[in-house]
Amino acid sequence: MAKAAVLTLGCKVNQFESSAVTESLRAAGFEILDQAVGADLVVLNTCTVTRKADQEALALLRRVKRLNPAAKVVATGCLAQSNPDLLADSGLVTLVLGQGEKAGLLDHLSDLDRPGRKIRVAPLTGPAADFGTPGPARTRAFYKIQDGCSAFCAYCAVPRSRGPSRSLDLDRVLEGLRSYLGRGLGEVVLCGIHLGHWGRDLKPALSLAELLHSIDSEISPDPELFRLRLSSVEPPELDGEVLTAYEMYPWLAPHFHLPLQSGSDRVLEMMGRPYRTAQFRDLVLRLKESWPLAGLGLDVMAGFPGESERDFQSGLEFLKDLPVTYFHVFPYSRRPGTRAAESPHQVPEHLKRARTLELKALNLAKRRAFAELNCGRRQQALVENTPHPASGRLKALTGNYLPALLPAGLDSALTGVLLPVRLEAPANPWGFLEARPLGAGEI
Ligand code: SF4
Repeated sequence: MAKAAVLTLGCKVNQFESSAVTESLRAAGFEILDQAVGADLVVLNTCTVTRKADQEALALLRRVKRLNPAAKVVATGCLAQSNPDLLADSGLVTLVLGQGEKAGLLDHLSDLDRPGRKIRVAPLTGPAADFGTPGPARTRAFYKIQDGCSAFCAYCAVPRSRGPSRSLDLDRVLEGLRSYLGRGLGEVVLCGIHLGHWGRDLKPALSLAELLHSIDSEISPDPELFRLRLSSVEPPELDGEVLTAYEMYPWLAPHFHLPLQSGSDRVLEMMGRPYRTAQFRDLVLRLKESWPLAGLGLDVMAGFPGESERDFQSGLEFLKDLPVTYFHVFPYSRRPGTRAAESPHQVPEHLKRARTLELKALNLAKRRAFAELNCGRRQQALVENTPHPASGRLKALTGNYLPALLPAGLDSALTGVLLPVRLEAPANPWGFLEARPLGAGEI
């Protein structure tokens, strides 16, 4: 039996697509390995959101070549779509497949034995590729329902590597969710490249709020057994209609992830972002008022071209005052073909590093404060099936996005269950909150 390994770089959408590719290879009779050594076929699903991601892809391909020179190597994903020649000319890849070809990877395996340079990358014009509902044996799944983006923020290479915004149609999404619920998953994370634009390209056009209402009317999930989490939503798209759905449906996880990018209006304008700090603060305060214990995460970038020390400091002050619970911090990465890459005002690397460190320190303080705020409080925690490696204890994830450890010796049959717990201060060397299951009398 031929052996295959699927390696993944990048975001939830890439991880979702890789699990679908893995399943299609398994269904085609491949034995799936979790590493490249020993594989006849290695598939690398690449990312190109930063220069570092490009370098990681090439470094991984060099490692595969060194450890398994006989393997046939397929490179797909965002770097393959936006810069196929870089991969084809590297001498490290047998076949380069675009995003559109990724879902039908099996159809291209016959190309592997053809001589010469092999690139199969078509323009991304058609409907969103349907990757089905790959079934992780885990308790929660990412489910990609939208692809591409048409916003062209000044720093972002994604529209070139993912194409314009395209959506899975409503019936397909509902069918997919029913399939996941039918498998007893405790949580599904709806994801996309620009999730808030789901439905806008459909005929008739639909909105994210309409999708949530359809899920309730057509599926009406039981919040004791299942929750739905939305991955990142652009601030303007977390609008009143979507928030009304959150107020109505207890099966929606109280967790909001918003790409802010900068706390400075001058920088937001240069980035081409469609909001300003005042609107953003109003949105955050509204979320905090309606859901005081919600997880509220941001993406923040440091060192965008033209960001002055004054911009950065005012942005930092803005973030200090904002009642959010964590950030993902990214140093600006110059991407070919983007407007920002042409700017003469590139921020020196040492300044970018220093600003990134300051933001990361503030992020730690926000995370710590939120964990403390949740101590002694009741939460619903999804029992995950990958035990904490060092302690062997079962891990859990709360609706408001706090990881915690369950008591030692808990029956692993609980995996996938939404367990009512009381969160307590960390009593372990890894800084995880303690999740104490609530007894029948306490629920
Ligand atoms: S909204 Fe902006 S940052 Fe997000 S994927 Fe689209 S272009 Fe990139």
